[in-house]
Amino acid sequence: MHDYARKTLFIGGEWITPAGTDLIEVIDPSTEQVIGTVPGGTEADVDAAVSAARRAFDPLISVAERRQRVAAVIAALEKRLPDIAETITREMGAPVRIAQTVQTQVPLAVARGFADVLDGFDFEEQVGNSLILREPYGVVGAITPWNYPLYQVVAKVVPAIAAGCTVVLKPSNEAPLSVFEFVEALEEAGLPAGVVNLVSGRGALIGERIAAHPEIDFVSFTGSTGVGARVGELAGRSVKKVALELGGKSANVILDDADLATAVKVGVGNAFLNGGQTCMAWTRMLVPQSRYGEALELIEAAVSKYTVGDPLDPATRIGPSASAGQFETVRGFIERAQRDGARLITGGAEPIREVGYYVAPTVFGDVDPDSELGQEEVFGPVLAVIPFTDETDALRIANGTPYGLSGAVWAADTDRAIAFAREVQTGQLDINGGKYNPVAPFGGYKKSGIGRELGRAGFEEYLQTKSLQLPA
Ligand code: NAD
Repeated sequence: MHDYARKTLFIGGEWITPAGTDLIEVIDPSTEQVIGTVPGGTEADVDAAVSAARRAFDPLISVAERRQRVAAVIAALEKRLPDIAETITREMGAPVRIAQTVQTQVPLAVARGFADVLDGFDFEEQVGNSLILREPYGVVGAITPWNYPLYQVVAKVVPAIAAGCTVVLKPSNEAPLSVFEFVEALEEAGLPAGVVNLVSGRGALIGERIAAHPEIDFVSFTGSTGVGARVGELAGRSVKKVALELGGKSANVILDDADLATAVKVGVGNAFLNGGQTCMAWTRMLVPQSRYGEALELIEAAVSKYTVGDPLDPATRIGPSASAGQFETVRGFIERAQRDGARLITGGAEPIREVGYYVAPTVFGDVDPDSELGQEEVFGPVLAVIPFTDETDALRIANGTPYGLSGAVWAADTDRAIAFAREVQTGQLDINGGKYNPVAPFGGYKKSGIGRELGRAGFEEYLQTKSLQLPA
């Protein structure tokens, strides 16, 4: 049974009534109906959560204890995955097939990846006459967005637990209900009181208090670049470590001798995954001028398979935008792209249903790389197709945005694609359809962020380093 009428916060191992009376409504974007509420916490709730996390933090925690905690979390998470998938469908409109796979199985794989990293990790190393110790960083503030609500929380909470840290977690207001269910799983896992604390609430209040809190040692934030900059500013003032996973405008670069049909099919699928609400989506498709007409035909054919509809229908590939605000944002981008002279190939800004925040999958051709659509993250099912003349031009366009999160390169020869990828300023690139790896470091260049998540690199973010110079 789901409890969508949440009235309590999880602090110090107990579900407690918050200090204030604010309640935040959660809306099903396919029906526009309120399906639940979560408390809007106060600064006093953050302070209580930080105190609980501080009390639970033991810098000398054994590795065996951490392994036991991570194993218990994975077992409890696995049991709750079907429930959590249902909730993600309801709170943010993810089609069931996406909710049951990418939204939940990927976080499980990520959590298992951290268990493996922990198993193989050396916490002590001798360098010359020094003994180098890797210690848990301390109390972590984790602030997460709505688009992959479970994944983003798992990518922070599990490495924090593996490292021996304790956590104060603030989920998004659009999709917080799945996070409450994840925290129940943590409770079922028997974590000691205060290891993970949950405070839902308004970003400007709860998020800023976490970022500025003097007793938090490290803030790990995932969200928009604008809010990330604010979090970094507040964390900087209190001299705490910060990791920022921010937006993207990633390029899918299809070189002239690539298998165009495959590159287009995979590229369209990537751009529209989760309704385009994916930070690492390849939202710009860079196509050689010499094959441009052929590419547009293939794109149109591929897009026609992306059925938009009720997220509960197993045939649906694209559900609604996750919120009314996001719906209006996406439609605004489409309208302005048309005004900017981009060629509408398919889709458009018109809502495609009377009820629910549904936008048609939309493709623009002849997009000026320097226009708003060529530069800014839309976070909806909108693909910008940009022709290039040669490799130099493709590289200039690929690197020509403020972002650098993800991307892809396709060429007949994999070595040629790798050589091109070496020059792209981005944190992750798929070469000729190379598949997703849940333990490969993930994070941004430029305005896409600071730091890395996942795998060993993601785990090491939660560790502090100490050097002991030993006597001869
Ligand atoms: P957002 O920045 O609006 O919100 C993210 C979180 O920050 C939410 O919990 C929100 O309540 C909180 N917040 C809001 N204002 C705050 C403030 N002033 N101080 C502290 N916290 C505050 O982002 P969103 O709309 O929820 O998510 C979409 C964005 O997230 C997109 O830009 C997307 O690219 C990005 N994103 C990045 C990654 C990544 O790994 N790089 C992954 C997913 C999403």
